Amino acid sequence: MKTKLTHPVFAIVSACADEMNVKAFVIGGWVRDLLLGRPCKDIDIVAIGSGIELAERVAKKLGDKYHVNTFKNFGTAQIAYEDYDIEFVGARKESYRAESRKPSVENGTLEDDQNRRDFTINALAISLNAASYGELLDPFNGVKDMEAKIIRTPLDPDITYSDDPLRMMRAIRFATQLNYTIDAASIESISKNKERIRIISKERITAELNKIILAKQPSIGFKILFDTGLLHFIFPEMVALYGVEVRNGKSHKDNFYHTLEVLDNICRTTDDLWLRWAAILHDIAKPPTKRFEPDHGWTFHGHEDKGARMVPKIFAELKLPLNEKMKYVQKLVLLHLRPIVLAKSEVSDSAVRRLLFEAGDDIDDLMKLCEADITSKNEYKVQKYLKNFELVRQKLKDIEEKDRVRNWQPPISGEDIMKAFGIPAGREVGILKNAIREAILDGIIQNDFEEAFRFLVKEGEKLGLKIKE
Ligand code: ATP
Ligand code: MG
Repeated sequence: MKTKLTHPVFAIVSACADEMNVKAFVIGGWVRDLLLGRPCKDIDIVAIGSGIELAERVAKKLGDKYHVNTFKNFGTAQIAYEDYDIEFVGARKESYRAESRKPSVENGTLEDDQNRRDFTINALAISLNAASYGELLDPFNGVKDMEAKIIRTPLDPDITYSDDPLRMMRAIRFATQLNYTIDAASIESISKNKERIRIISKERITAELNKIILAKQPSIGFKILFDTGLLHFIFPEMVALYGVEVRNGKSHKDNFYHTLEVLDNICRTTDDLWLRWAAILHDIAKPPTKRFEPDHGWTFHGHEDKGARMVPKIFAELKLPLNEKMKYVQKLVLLHLRPIVLAKSEVSDSAVRRLLFEAGDDIDDLMKLCEADITSKNEYKVQKYLKNFELVRQKLKDIEEKDRVRNWQPPISGEDIMKAFGIPAGREVGILKNAIREAILDGIIQNDFEEAFRFLVKEGEKLGLKIKE
């Protein structure tokens, strides 16, 4: 272990702790990630004594350009060292009350401090004092659990999860990131304590959810969230996707598992959180639009439209940003069926132009979403659909090269229209602007000023408007 403590700050902490005659340890996530071989930029140091005093001494030794940020109320101190975030705290003992995840805190021993940690793999500590430098303290067999790939709580899981219900999310998040199994007693306890997630702020829940979504295979986490019942509390719209109904011998696919497949698929082509969110939400309105039509079976008409309209409420509920990221997700949900229509061979140039215009720069992401949306078990069908989308990509490319409609603006602006007819801003300007755009997208007129202007004159006449000389 000694040889692994190569970060220069450890030798300095070691010297300072010995000078102060306090014990110091590196603990938690950093030790876990060291053993897992994962990079980690957060170093947590625990002192059996004052974390703040230790931090101040360490900063002095590091040199003038380092200083300590102290948080007296929490008894913690922090030093930014290059791109590392080093936190110092005194070992603590915590006790919880039912209505809050904020414990009352008192000074404690290293064991007390390890006891309050969430998982055995997060409770590992390495001694930094010279006499025992590099010694691993693993009271709950965290290393063994790491080898067995198990998430387990140090104490009775009912206590750990009920004390701080955020740990339920963290357990599922670590299981997803590391591809570990959650210990059966923990799963049972999470199912039992799921309602307590209510005392956790939505921001914190969503931060964990986003970490699940950013993992390599997010379906792992969503399945556990669903099976334990947590998902019902944090994201009921997604739970509504679950299930298959059969009528007159006709069934539809389970949209919950379909969505998870689409999500895992898209994760192979993008690291972007928002494209991943678009995959999660692409069919979100299937439950409220579901109909049984005796001649056709199950239909979900308009689910793309309704889904896009559901996005703001879901984002607000989950405290996701209500900005251009949300608009992007909305747009992809709204357009997610359109490339399928374009896959038909007899499709017109104008349909392709229209999609290019509506999707703009997000057209490539939209195509990725559509490709991820193919979840047939029939490999022949998958290949066929993928080939069709390849043709769509080609059509999009050809039309874009020809017409440049991506990020396109019509040749005549609202200003131009107001000037031409000598009219103020108003409904008519909108109608005329729209008519010009539609005519160009439909290929009725060419995308140039002269032709658009002649068209404008005619359209203006229909509204009783005359060009101002
Ligand atoms: P990541 O950095 O990937 O979010 P982490 O486990 O390092 O994961 P941090 O928030 O950095 O999480 O916390 C550092 C350490 O503090 C953890 O390893 C764990 O020992 C402890 N810890 C964090 N949150 C909790 C919690 N809710 N309950 C108990 N211990 C916690
Ligand atoms: Mg960390």
